[in-house]
Amino acid sequence: MTKKLFMFSGGLDSLTMLAAEDLPKENLRCVYLDYDAKARKQELIACREICHYYQVEFDIIKLDSINEVMSCALTAEGEEVPKGVFDGKGDDKKVIPFRNGIMLSILTAYAIKHGFDEIEVGFNDVGIGTAPDASDEFAGFMKEAIRLGSGGKVSLLAPFTSFEKWEICKLALDCEAPIWLSYSCFVGREKHCGLCGSCEGRLEGFKKLGKLDAVLYEV
Ligand SMILES: [Zn+2]
Repeated sequence: MTKKLFMFSGGLDSLTMLAAEDLPKENLRCVYLDYDAKARKQELIACREICHYYQVEFDIIKLDSINEVMSCALTAEGEEVPKGVFDGKGDDKKVIPFRNGIMLSILTAYAIKHGFDEIEVGFNDVGIGTAPDASDEFAGFMKEAIRLGSGGKVSLLAPFTSFEKWEICKLALDCEAPIWLSYSCFVGREKHCGLCGSCEGRLEGFKKLGKLDAVLYEV
């Protein structure tokens, strides 16, 4: 039977992928790619609690060197995390360049090594806009690259690339996902800041549905 890896950050998209999964939980593993983001501590708490809730295996891959050579405002000390969604202004500060490409390459190697057939990612760029390596087109090319580069052993699934944020929020609610356990804020304090691009995205999503988000916000 299929064994699947989830690229897992502990955020709402990650949680929803896992909540909507039909495969037996023992066939799944969530992997956190640790590049020492400011939100690392809270993200790891969320990952562990969500994986415990669903009784799914959890693993961490350390990527220390990424932060040394390609840091951005999400990782660099003394650099403030920009407010607002991805809009073409200062977007290079909001994310490690080509982050999803880097992570997918590493996860593919991990999948081959540990006998997983599928990798699933929750990234999406519709409505709020996001990094170019979260687009439907990018995911399409990565699917092909991973299939070819793994000798046909590994497939990539990216079910949310054509979803707007509210659709992910709706799916999470429909699956009765433990939304209160997720953590999406780029800033990394205990409560969500409510102002960064990631917070804005999920707040907008729940607002469109006329529902309240189940995590706590500072504002
Ligand atoms: Zn935030």
